[in-house]
Amino acid sequence: MTRYIDVQDLARLVNRKGLPTCLLEMADYIRQDYLRWHAFEKCARVANHSADGVIELMPISDASRYAFKYVNGHPKNTRHGLPTVMAFGALASVDTGAPLLLSEMTLTTAIRTAATSALAARYLARADSRSMALIGNGSQSEFQAIAFNALLGIDEIRLYDIDPAASAKLVANLANRPGLKLSIASSVAEAVRGADIVTTVTADKACATILTPEMIEPGMHLNAVGGDCPGKTELHRAIVERARVIVEYEPQSRVESEIQQMPADSPVTEFWRVVAGEAKGRESAEQVTLFDSVGFALEDYSALRYVLDTAQALDIGTDIGLVPVLEDPKDLYGLLQPRVVELRAVPKAGSVCA
Ligand code: NAD
Repeated sequence: MTRYIDVQDLARLVNRKGLPTCLLEMADYIRQDYLRWHAFEKCARVANHSADGVIELMPISDASRYAFKYVNGHPKNTRHGLPTVMAFGALASVDTGAPLLLSEMTLTTAIRTAATSALAARYLARADSRSMALIGNGSQSEFQAIAFNALLGIDEIRLYDIDPAASAKLVANLANRPGLKLSIASSVAEAVRGADIVTTVTADKACATILTPEMIEPGMHLNAVGGDCPGKTELHRAIVERARVIVEYEPQSRVESEIQQMPADSPVTEFWRVVAGEAKGRESAEQVTLFDSVGFALEDYSALRYVLDTAQALDIGTDIGLVPVLEDPKDLYGLLQPRVVELRAVPKAGSVCA
């Protein structure tokens, strides 16, 4: 049987654990899997672009599990009452190909992205970091705020969004969180001034310059999340030139991340090397570091692994017949025989028969 987790199941799972605990635990699953980098068969995601967005398939496997995520990115969706990003995915056994988990991944993506951002910042931000500017206050933003609070102790967050209602929504959602001081800035520059960490998580299908060079101060850590497609960036090129750039998977990032603005041989370090201790994260207190994130399939593999383990432990979700369970595995046709159809037609106990 395949465990099926819908959006309500995932919300129940998160509420049972508490979001900060989920973020901490998922970050550890992600860290464990980055430590096993060479155990994975990896590829850049397959992206189908259209005028207003993109739909992507993100596969990955190791010797025991195969995972994929379906995810879209349509920045204009919110005008039509739909989220910008929606996702679902599956985890399967490599030995047999049997699907183990079919899960919602819209909430899961927000959690895994925030967990990855905060995990990266643990290696890249200054250890004394306490404040963060959070530019773009849509669906991902609360998860980013809570992750940086839970994993790094960031307790002062300055918000900015071109849509004031989005910032007000964030403040209302997080108003009762102890230990988190939120303020709304009147411009990106005001939000960024003096911040230890700057997270950009805006949605616009454009080469935007949310951050410009004069805003960047020595020692800042930049967590660039929203530039994740060809022709969709958030940082001025000079910032990328100046920073120590950490990417997830270079072949995918060259096409999709901030470094799409740079020559093909511009220096970058893959995140797994930092996690493994093969490369330094931050090299000096004054250095500007950039986690140039686009989201990599390995993080979704970790997230699905976490969801399955936690759902089983908490007995959340439904076991469904996504693929046939056959008495004779060669008799697929037998599923169509009247015997089975009749069995399905038996009324449930308590229902009224004529
Ligand atoms: P969303 O549409 O819910 O929120 C985006 C917010 O950005 C909106 O409130 C919008 O008003 C704001 N915005 C747009 N342009 C702005 C600007 N110039 N200055 C300030 N604010 C601006 O989208 P979301 O689900 O929160 O996703 C945000 C971005 O993160 C998207 O681009 C998405 O593709 C990306 N994303 C990346 C990853 C990753 O792993 N790197 C994962 C998930 C989402």
